[in-house]
Amino acid sequence: MNYALVTGGSRGLGAAICKRLALQGLGVIINYRSNEAAAKAVADDIECAGGCAELLPFDVSSEAEVDAALEDWENRHPEDRITVLVNNAGIREDNLLIFMQTEQWHNVINTTLDGFFFVTRRILKGMLTKRYGRIINIASLSGLKGLPGQANYSAAKAALIGATKALAQEVAPRKVTVNAIAPGYIKSDMTKDLDESTLKKQVPLGRFGEPEEVAALVAFLASNDSSYITGETISINGGLYS
Ligand code: NDP
Repeated sequence: MNYALVTGGSRGLGAAICKRLALQGLGVIINYRSNEAAAKAVADDIECAGGCAELLPFDVSSEAEVDAALEDWENRHPEDRITVLVNNAGIREDNLLIFMQTEQWHNVINTTLDGFFFVTRRILKGMLTKRYGRIINIASLSGLKGLPGQANYSAAKAALIGATKALAQEVAPRKVTVNAIAPGYIKSDMTKDLDESTLKKQVPLGRFGEPEEVAALVAFLASNDSSYITGETISINGGLYS
């Protein structure tokens, strides 16, 4: 069976992406760090709809945890392969740079950037051998535009976009595509502390996006229909920035 691995698949965008990819007939590996109940609820929803899902907890920023979990999965699934990787796990720890703690800088960069590196390096081998793969990196409007109070997050997401462009060129000869998605404001736990009623006035479409709208774009990039798109960053932001 062909599988999709979605990092941070327990909540928000990741949960919607897991459910959507399951509808495309992929087995779904739901990664998360600590919220097992939320991850289980996503797996239950997928299975109730007739899909196939399994949980795979690990911290994406830990090289040892990533390697151990994926080696274990591969040993348990000798006949299966991961054809789609969605690097979605991410955190926000906002602060003005002048007040930013060293820990806040590293936590955000390590989760987004080290997470991308450790997980992608591990999964890539199988994709290159089989000469097929779809890698989708969830970046952000913040990585394109830069947002005040998010120097750590903007830096991490801009770097992720750079890595997307570089890797796309490395692996294109083996028919592996690598793209990024840059969402604007999307409803999730990450944005629940924001003042939605004020911020949505900045958005030309007049509202925050839904996780399912991002999931639909991921599903397209994960499909055969996107076969001639690589190294691209696609914005999904209600017209906020382009
Ligand atoms: P949420 O905070 O709702 O969910 C974050 C997910 O990431 C959870 O599943 C969480 O797992 C997981 N996670 C966090 N750290 C780690 C880690 N070290 N290892 C493994 N899993 C981890 O966030 P969103 O759904 O809003 O965001 C998803 C992605 O989209 C992020 O990369 C974010 O930066 C990006 N994004 C979001 C936007 C928005 O408006 N919401 C806008 C632009 C980009 P657990 O449940 O175990 O904690």
